[in-house]
Amino acid sequence: MTDKDYLNSLRIPTKEDPIRVLSSACLLGELCGVDGTSNGVYQSALQLMKHDTVKLVPFCPEDFAMGTPRETPDCEGGDGHDVLDGKARVVTQSGKDLTQEMIAASLKMLQVAKENDVELAFLMDASGACGSQVIYNGSRFSDTKEYQIGMGICAAQLDRNGIKTVSQRDFAAVEILFAKLNPNHQINQEAIDYDQTEWYREYFGK
Ligand code: SF4
Repeated sequence: MTDKDYLNSLRIPTKEDPIRVLSSACLLGELCGVDGTSNGVYQSALQLMKHDTVKLVPFCPEDFAMGTPRETPDCEGGDGHDVLDGKARVVTQSGKDLTQEMIAASLKMLQVAKENDVELAFLMDASGACGSQVIYNGSRFSDTKEYQIGMGICAAQLDRNGIKTVSQRDFAAVEILFAKLNPNHQINQEAIDYDQTEWYREYFGK
């Protein structure tokens, strides 16, 4: 769940001193998805990019570790924290084990975050690397496609090193961020986070 208290506590940025945000590169339009696309277009990302009081630092950990195009890595038997703790692994649709590559990718993402002294990470949900709310459990291409609540490996690496994350589909949380970036932004009170959606509540029985 996104830490809204943290978002509310963010400083008021200026053009000269913008909030530094690490972002999944695909959300900013880079063609780094597994199939060489940017994984679609997301309104929250487009809106974020319009602000001049944010400095966006794009990074794609999977492209760094495996190149593009590539097979799709997903956590199996646990989430990204479990992978980092050696209790779960990363598999692709062909059964390839990419656990070590993804751990290396997460460490590189952490390094980029530290080098840029980021204050937040804006991440693509559902990715075995960048997911921060919901990810797949096992390959998303398996006959028994299954979701789990949890973070991907890179989000988990950032999280355990004190870097807060927000998903592109946590609309209520992103509204708080927009209000920080632009004091004139009127918060949409009807916006909800992903864990408040009907699908999430039904699927996970919450
Ligand atoms: S690893 Fe992250 S940045 Fe790269 S394509 Fe997947 S979601 Fe986007």
